[in-house]
This record gives sequence, structure tokens and C-alpha cells, in this order.
Amino acid sequence: MNFLQALNKGYDLLKSNKIDSYRIDAEVLLSESLNISKEKLILNLENAINSASYKKFLSNIKRRNNKEPLAYILNKKEFWKNEFFINKNVLVPRPETEHLVEETLKIISTNQRKKLLEIGIGSGCLIISILKERKNCYAHGIDCCEKALKIANINVNLHQIKNRIKIFKSDVDNFNRGKYDLILSNPPYIDNKHLKYLDVSKHEPLKALDGGYDGTQILMKVIIKSSQLLKNNGKLIIEIGNNQKYKVIESLKKNNFFVNKTVKDLSNIERCIVSTKLP
Ligand code: GLN
Repeated sequence: MNFLQALNKGYDLLKSNKIDSYRIDAEVLLSESLNISKEKLILNLENAINSASYKKFLSNIKRRNNKEPLAYILNKKEFWKNEFFINKNVLVPRPETEHLVEETLKIISTNQRKKLLEIGIGSGCLIISILKERKNCYAHGIDCCEKALKIANINVNLHQIKNRIKIFKSDVDNFNRGKYDLILSNPPYIDNKHLKYLDVSKHEPLKALDGGYDGTQILMKVIIKSSQLLKNNGKLIIEIGNNQKYKVIESLKKNNFFVNKTVKDLSNIERCIVSTKLP
């Protein structure tokens, strides 16, 4: 069997299971199984595939057919300008979360020395991306999930920013260390009534998605905690879900925040809110 025949087999298996991205998925999974780049794969379609690689390919195709995200099968995902180590203990980094990076970089200029906190760091992709762009900044990150902290630490080492970040195991309620110039959070914000009907809930950690009643329960905690931990005029940048804007803005105002802006994602959903803690 050659690369092309293996690829066609992968296409067919994924297609018959209604995986829309069957082409790219099969190509990525085959190149991964062969340990070569996608370009090299496409240029060498006549090459023979050995049985170990073919077996690995078929088992990865099976996982994908079970709707497991590609990032979990490959153990990696691109976010902002970097690649991160990912497994099922953390959410797959989403492109919409890059808005939080973008907004943070607009607020902190290149050489500024600021102290940041991320509430719920998961894989660490958000805070690590920011620290890599702002070399004078220092951060704390918290997460309540031990397994997520392990992944965050792997990524901190991978990106060599160990001396500029400290990671703590804590939930949002019990963290009371220091004062920050800027706080970031992409907390769980899916309404728990809808969660079980979503594809994401089959493979991704429920704790990172479940926002309780109407999805805003943790967001509310993040806002209250941030009002205590931010310096005066410090910024809070949070990600929110569909239809949560008004409720979240109301809570921000109630907790003495000025709402600077809301940012829509590429699907035109209000996804990110930037606010300032008033003195
Ligand atoms: N953006 C994710 C989704 O819609 C949810 C992430 C979260 O709850 N923070 O699946």
C-alpha cells in the first residue's frame, strides 16, 4: 500500500462518518503517523507505507470518526503565534480567544512592566502568548484543575517563560494574592442546560465549559474577584458566550467597572469585554 491509497482510505472512512473536514483531517493524520510534513506527504504519494504507520493512521482516523478534536489526537494546537501542548484535560484553544490577546496587547505597550493575572489558565495558551509578546510583564495564573496545571506547566517550559509566571492551584473564590494591573479570564460560560447537547461536551473537560445556570455563574465570580484584586484603573478582559453581554455588563457596572468596549468574534458574536476598575 502506498501513501495515496492510505490517504484515500482515510478520506472514505471520515467521509462516510460525515466529518466535513475529512480531506485536511486525513492528510494531517497521515503525515503525523508517518512523522513527515504534509508537503512531503503530498509530494511522495507513491511511497510505500509501513504497517506500523498504517496501523497508527487507522487508529487515529477511528478517534477522529468518534468526533474527537484533531488537537487531542495530535496533542498540539496553534494559538496566536505559537504551538501548545494539548490533551483532553484542557479546552482546545479557540481562535475567538485570540481577541483577548489582541486587546491586552493594545493596552500594554511593548516595554511596559505590568503584573497580570489569568483566572482559569487551562493550557496556558492565553497568558503565555501575551508574556511572549511583552517581555517585561510578569504573571500569576490560577486553575482549580490539577491536570490542567500540569499542561500549563508543560507549556510554560516549552515556551521558556518559567521565570515570568507563577501558577497556583486555586479556584476563583479562594485566591487572594497580590494586586494586578490587568486580569484576564476565559472562564467556563456554557449554560449547563445546553451543555449536554453540544459536540464539545463529548471530549472536552466539562469543568472548563460549564458556566452553571445561564452560563454566567463563574463569570460573575470572576468579576467580583477581579474588583478586589485589580489596582485602581486596572483592566479586566474577559471572554463571554452568546447572549451574555447585557448581564455581564450589568454586573461589571454594579462592581464599579467602566466598560471600555465589547469585541465581536468572526461569527459576529459579542465575545470579549474590556473594562476598567474605577477608583
Ligand atoms: N468557546 C467555547 C465554546 O463555545 C466555550 C469556552 C468556555 O466556556 N470558556 O465551545
